[in-house]
Amino acid sequence: MLRLLDTATGVAVPPAERAGARVGLYVCGATVYGPPHIGHGRFALVYDVLRRYLARSGYDVRHVSNITDVDDKVIDRAAAEGRDWREVAEEAEEQWWAAMDAMGVLRPHEVPHATDYVEEMVSLVAELVRLGVAYETSDGVYLACDAVEGYGTLAHQSLDSLRSGARAVVGEEKRSPLDFAVWKKAKPGEPTWPSPFGPGRPGWHTECVVMSLSLLGEGFELHGGGLDLVFPHHENERAQAVALGRPFARHWVHNGLVVVGGEKMSKSLGNYTELKTLLDAYDPRAYRLLVLRSYYRSPLEVGPSTLGDAAAALQRVDELARRLEAVRPRQDTVPRGWDAPGGQSRPAAVFPAAQSLRGRFVEAMDDDLGTPRALAEVLGAVREANRLLDAGEATGALALGDVALELLGVLGIEPAGVEAPPATIVELAGRRESARRAGDYDAADRLRDELAAQGWKVDDLPDGPRLHR
Ligand SMILES: [Zn+2]
Repeated sequence: MLRLLDTATGVAVPPAERAGARVGLYVCGATVYGPPHIGHGRFALVYDVLRRYLARSGYDVRHVSNITDVDDKVIDRAAAEGRDWREVAEEAEEQWWAAMDAMGVLRPHEVPHATDYVEEMVSLVAELVRLGVAYETSDGVYLACDAVEGYGTLAHQSLDSLRSGARAVVGEEKRSPLDFAVWKKAKPGEPTWPSPFGPGRPGWHTECVVMSLSLLGEGFELHGGGLDLVFPHHENERAQAVALGRPFARHWVHNGLVVVGGEKMSKSLGNYTELKTLLDAYDPRAYRLLVLRSYYRSPLEVGPSTLGDAAAALQRVDELARRLEAVRPRQDTVPRGWDAPGGQSRPAAVFPAAQSLRGRFVEAMDDDLGTPRALAEVLGAVREANRLLDAGEATGALALGDVALELLGVLGIEPAGVEAPPATIVELAGRRESARRAGDYDAADRLRDELAAQGWKVDDLPDGPRLHR
């Protein structure tokens, strides 16, 4: 069973109490004011693989990731360029999705835009004021952090130590330097929305708490984002929910950052490489492979030599896929690409190394999304299958190679030039299988129709469901 290290407790826990349960996953998404850099690419890939693996593990995943389309950075860029802020946000969002599509990142099930939820944000701010945990100043409304029980849970620091580390800014009316804006009163030329505190716009921390609770409900399972968001962003999201007495995320997961010479890659430091530059220069799958070769919480240096290694590994994958198709018996119409969790593909069943590969892969992934070990196992099997083909052992090569390619598909890596069920189809089939096992045949039938509408059939064979055109 998959266990993920929870940032709040430091303990590895299952994402939900029972297999097959719903897992609501909220991931802080892009602030759209410019083209994404490779650090953004890493977080998108990490949560894409987490989402795919949750689905593969039988969970009913609901992946929500927001777009912050109003923010100081969006407004500043629009002002600097003499453009409308909406135009800046729309252009940057297009660039975002183009890069995500190039990397094969599945679109989240929901992509809330902050500007669509402002009314709810105003209500939340009003409620915080009514409860006496937020107060108004001349420039906004602030949450009083010392009124929140357990403030510092994510930072693993006490309120006192956080307070002594925070710097007071001369002229600010905040009661404590830790207090943060839940509503920002309008400055000249800024986009505004009406509120009981005058026209203005919501604070960033307020946006995410409203959108996550609104779309996933109270006590949703997983909240994710980059490690740089743990404090203050996630601490402050949590603080608002706690102040309102609303159960928030049950578990927290964070990805490590892309670093340059040990320093965080960021737009403000100017040490970034645009994602598009990397994706234009290399096979986009190479970046996914490189990201998965590191533990998701570790810092990651990205350079030409590691990208080159990844591209070479992918060539071996593509070569294997081509060679397997060439030796595959014609009557074998079973497509590669999907087996039920714990299922056995027929050729694999007669070849123990292929069976144990699946087990070793699952064991590595279950251990806090251990993609480095899982990938090493699979790429080792790719080498071995190519070796078996060299030795003329087609049956063994097919058995081992098909499982290796299937498992790469779980990580979102498909061989070039060979059709396999796309991940969205695999996910639909996984949901159907979960529904079927839970005895919800209406839902299972609906999902079968959905698959059929997209041109895929599913056969329930004794050893598990099988997808084919
Ligand atoms: Zn957020």
